[in-house]
Amino acid sequence: MARSHPNPCQVCPGSCCRELAVTVSIVDVARIHRYLHIPVHDFLARYVDEDPKEEPFAFIIRKQPIALALLPPDGLDRGCSFLMDVGGHLRCGIYDYRPGTCRVYPFTDQGERVRHKRGTLCPRRFDLDDLRAEDIRREIARYQEEWLIHAEFAWQWNADPPRHASFQKLLDFVDEIVQSGKV
Ligand code: SF4
Ligand code: SF4
Repeated sequence: MARSHPNPCQVCPGSCCRELAVTVSIVDVARIHRYLHIPVHDFLARYVDEDPKEEPFAFIIRKQPIALALLPPDGLDRGCSFLMDVGGHLRCGIYDYRPGTCRVYPFTDQGERVRHKRGTLCPRRFDLDDLRAEDIRREIARYQEEWLIHAEFAWQWNADPPRHASFQKLLDFVDEIVQSGKV
């Protein structure tokens, strides 16, 4: 691992934002739409996990479980189109409204303490003092609550097979929920 830095993300070429599919909950979608006024249909892409472990959170389209992800940059199938080059430094273009998965990456609080999750591609070392660990723990709890809300809507979608024709229909469904103010 690389040497630690007060904020390792500041000296990283944004590996996570460039190389991972950024899956989002409906709560994330509503937040981004509401505060940035971007139509739901304009910033989402489908993500098909080859080894789906989070079935309660998946939407079924023609029997295939799929997740919602942030749209990748043009021509790529991974990464995030909200990553911006600001004077040669890569920065999140929607930092205050970034999805839960970005807020908690690359940490987990499974077990007794907050720690760097194994198996992530993040190469950096974070020094977590108690205060920072507590902040991350709160973010992880918020993240989990948001995905539970998401799971209720995934369940509604999955319980109504006639809707399952296309990703476009799923986006219409998500847009309807966001516009209704239910999330
Ligand atoms: S979380 Fe890790 S991979 Fe992502 S920007 Fe920060 S240091 Fe880089
Ligand atoms: S929303 Fe921001 S933090 Fe999340 S992947 Fe995109 S650029 Fe990175």
